[in-house]
Amino acid sequence: MTTPTRTAIIAGNWKMHYGPSLATSFTHEILPRLGELVQQYPHILCILCPPAISLLAVREALVAQPFPRIELGAQNMYFEEKGAFTGEISPTMVRELCSAVILGHSERRTYFGETDELVNKKARAALKHNLRPIVCIGENPEEHEAGMTEQVIRFQVQYSLSHFPAQQVKEVVIAYEPIWAIGTGKAATPAGAGQVIQLIRQLFAHMYGSEAASTLRILYGGSVTSDNISEFIAHPDIDGALVGGASIKPDFVEIVHKTIEVMRQ
Ligand code: PEP
Repeated sequence: MTTPTRTAIIAGNWKMHYGPSLATSFTHEILPRLGELVQQYPHILCILCPPAISLLAVREALVAQPFPRIELGAQNMYFEEKGAFTGEISPTMVRELCSAVILGHSERRTYFGETDELVNKKARAALKHNLRPIVCIGENPEEHEAGMTEQVIRFQVQYSLSHFPAQQVKEVVIAYEPIWAIGTGKAATPAGAGQVIQLIRQLFAHMYGSEAASTLRILYGGSVTSDNISEFIAHPDIDGALVGGASIKPDFVEIVHKTIEVMRQ
């Protein structure tokens, strides 16, 4: 078995699906096979990201059937530690249950007005509290059509990913998610995604040095299913996937299975 340079990450963003009861039953449904797969292959990490209200239920299911490298992540959090921020959850609250948190998802940016500056504050707060931030960036359909992808990515990397402490930068995960590919069934091509991911890695190297950039995990996200995951994983610059729609179906397990199959080759 060859050892990959970077451990792959397959993260499932359940979005606003599955309250505590359904989250529990779905976790119990997928966990035996998922656990068996990750036990057989040490270079993969799976992160389940249910809605905030279901985090405890999924944590309990994971504690009942513990497997290494199946972790829990939140879909969002605020950067302040406590206070009068109705409806928000803090990094310390998330840390009680989770090891990771998705930040700056395009749906947060589009529907809830999140800016790069806010995403950056959240990512820094996550690092401070030992949470692995999965920071999402990506161009929208108009920017894509106008050939502005590189410009948008440069801006987002510079402003969402700045001022990270050097000793924690290795915990950062970036998800490149072209917005036109999210939930549309029209995934990017692995070559197209790989090109943008190479640019992200270069920009990160300018900010944090080439060693930090070489260990940085950059995931692809956008209409990933078990039918196309193999092509993405086979691309040397793509370190895994952030999966939306397919993560709330048993197909998620098949995505992990196919990822392992490709990585083993
Ligand atoms: C996402 O929500 O991060 C995502 C990539 O969604 P989908 O896989 O459904 O395109």
